[in-house]
Amino acid sequence: MLFDNYGRPLNSLRIQVNAVCNFKCFFCHMEGTEENAEHLSPEEIEEVVRIASLKGVNRIKFTGGEPLIRRDLEEIITRTRKHIKGDISLTTNGFFLESRAKSLKEAGLDRINISLHSLHKNRFRIITGNEGISSVEKGIDAALEAGLKPVKINFVVLNGLNTDEIDEMMMFAAEKGAILQFIEYETDRNGENTEDFRRYHYDLRNIEKRLKDKIVGVSYNSLHHRKKYRVNLGSREVEVELVMPMRNPDFCNNCTRLRVTSKGQFQTCLNRKDQVFSFRGEKNIEKIMEEAVKAREPYWR
Ligand code: SAM
Repeated sequence: MLFDNYGRPLNSLRIQVNAVCNFKCFFCHMEGTEENAEHLSPEEIEEVVRIASLKGVNRIKFTGGEPLIRRDLEEIITRTRKHIKGDISLTTNGFFLESRAKSLKEAGLDRINISLHSLHKNRFRIITGNEGISSVEKGIDAALEAGLKPVKINFVVLNGLNTDEIDEMMMFAAEKGAILQFIEYETDRNGENTEDFRRYHYDLRNIEKRLKDKIVGVSYNSLHHRKKYRVNLGSREVEVELVMPMRNPDFCNNCTRLRVTSKGQFQTCLNRKDQVFSFRGEKNIEKIMEEAVKAREPYWR
């Protein structure tokens, strides 16, 4: 197993399979990269996963861009499954999911996160630049039907834009049998002063306060030490996770992952565009991975 200089083990890779998307969410961090057309082949992804697995990595998250734009995502997952016994998951906007959920599951995908930042057509369009809310909802149903477990809904909370949908989203997730992730709008130190961030950033501790009397259980997700609540909605219960990275040393201290960009680089942190280690076409990927892990440091501390 590899450890960084802060004693944090490496057990997870977050692999960006492309850096293009059919949605244009105004707040998107693009996983700490710029939009670009480069992407690794299934063979290249398998090789980096194979090497990482020998170093103790046992969980993989695929992300983008929009991963389902790639027609060969199933092949990528099949190749990954050969080396990874633990959790393989995917984050997607859900637009192309309805017809792919079953084949993704069959390829070896365990679970899925589907982004949905509003249940209202107009707002959904304002946030994502896309009209396809009904396709996303069908995608959620298809994922549940295919047996991807759990299905998590990623809801980035945007002050004044979707903060009035918090209760509605919890009921939506409860009715579907999905987990709801409230995600804090995040940025790096420079981004904190931008107009968009100042306007739309919402402190998720307000949600915790609001839910206080309805919480019937608390646990933690080991990655980033994120809080998980069981919330009683009266007629139903829902599992809610709060992802609060901003200025949160606890979040960074419990980070155990390395990023792989669509260009074939290891990136140490979402907020460290300056800390990338290119491995594409290199012979000694293992050594480059070790270098990248050694360079990791908690961003918020
Ligand atoms: N296109 C896919 C999607 O929409 O899920 C995958 C890529 S997207 C970059 C991965 C996740 O990051 C999504 O849930 C998205 O909503 C979230 N995200 C993007 N920008 C963010 C930001 N500035 N703060 C918090 N979450 C963000």
